[in-house]
Amino acid sequence: MYPRVILGRGRERRQHQGHPWVYDGEIASLTGQPSDGAVVDCYSHDGAFLGRGYFNSRSKIRVRILTRQVDEDVDEALLRRRLAWALERRQRLYPTATSLRLVHAEGDGLPGLTVDRYEDTLVLQCAALGMDLRLDMLARLLRELTGLEQIYLRNDLSVRRNDGLELSHGFLDAPFPTVVPIQEHGLTFEVDLAGGHKTGFYLDQTDNHLALYTLVPAGGTVLDAFCYTGAFSVHAAAAGAGEVWGMDSSTAVLEVAQQNAARNGFGERCRFEAGNVFDRLRQLQGSSQLFDLIILDPPSFTHSRDALAKALSGYKEINLRALKLLRPGGVLVTFTCSYYVERTRFESMVQEAASDARRQLTVRQRLSQALHHPEVMAIPETAYLKGLAVEVW
Ligand code: SAH
Repeated sequence: MYPRVILGRGRERRQHQGHPWVYDGEIASLTGQPSDGAVVDCYSHDGAFLGRGYFNSRSKIRVRILTRQVDEDVDEALLRRRLAWALERRQRLYPTATSLRLVHAEGDGLPGLTVDRYEDTLVLQCAALGMDLRLDMLARLLRELTGLEQIYLRNDLSVRRNDGLELSHGFLDAPFPTVVPIQEHGLTFEVDLAGGHKTGFYLDQTDNHLALYTLVPAGGTVLDAFCYTGAFSVHAAAAGAGEVWGMDSSTAVLEVAQQNAARNGFGERCRFEAGNVFDRLRQLQGSSQLFDLIILDPPSFTHSRDALAKALSGYKEINLRALKLLRPGGVLVTFTCSYYVERTRFESMVQEAASDARRQLTVRQRLSQALHHPEVMAIPETAYLKGLAVEVW
């Protein structure tokens, strides 16, 4: 018998919809004294079992549900089944990929746990105390199920503070090189697992990097704005672009981008330039330079709903400027990675930019995060990356 968390009257609706979080404000009472990270049972006010999961008194997300089955224990065996299922799912979707996300937290029924594979190394992130306390067990299970030994912890996620956790990063145990070459769609990229953005590489864009093969016109001129270490640039060159221009505000990532282009044999066709995309697009408008394809993959302009309007005006500005720099029939590939910008809002922003630029858009493809970052429809937080590829006339 686990301690019980009893929800307030009428507060079980989200649980019935399948969302795995129970917020502090939804709880009416507690029986027993669960320690933080311990397993609790959740019940509706009327006494119906809702689910079983990890408790944390220090978090607004008071319980993270792991099972809705009353006869299923939340123990090592459950974690093993979930991990095995996550790996099996990847095996079916990406049978040959060697660098990809293996566990997408709530998207794989493992709240707060992210596991990325970069060739022979696993990079783990725990955003929730329940998982953090079981890190050694999870590492043991992952080693057993994947056969991989090297584990790096990127617990430098600021959301950890919401769960009362400290930020840190480092080796789980034995050290190994953390700057490694990885394979993506037959191309090679250098990834800095310890110091790179996220866990080192934008794995969530993997499917979209590949989508460039159907979008880049042979011999065309491509602008990759917010290029990071050049994943889109190198794919554009591999897809047949004649000239690729990558742009980022960080000079450190551009050095890696240039090396990535060279290591794949596209050093001559790719050039990278440091600068603020907002300023550079404005300056380019005054020149006669036009592009056949422009990629806009900016960082999230908002991490809260309050800043949404300002974020949308930032997105609109770069989209408007990019639209004006495309040849008729050119393609704009544009993204938002902000959870708060819903797809319909994103698409209407792009359309508003097109109206202002007096251009007509035809949809080529709707894009989202790679399938190894599964979206659960009942959990909007599992989906954040939205993109659009449009022909511009
Ligand atoms: N497209 C990349 C990921 C881009 S991440 C990929 O698929 O790998 C966003 C990038 O935007 C980061 O590298 C960051 O350094 C850069 N950035 C943020 N603000 C910027 C700005 N105002 N101008 C130029 N680059 C910017």
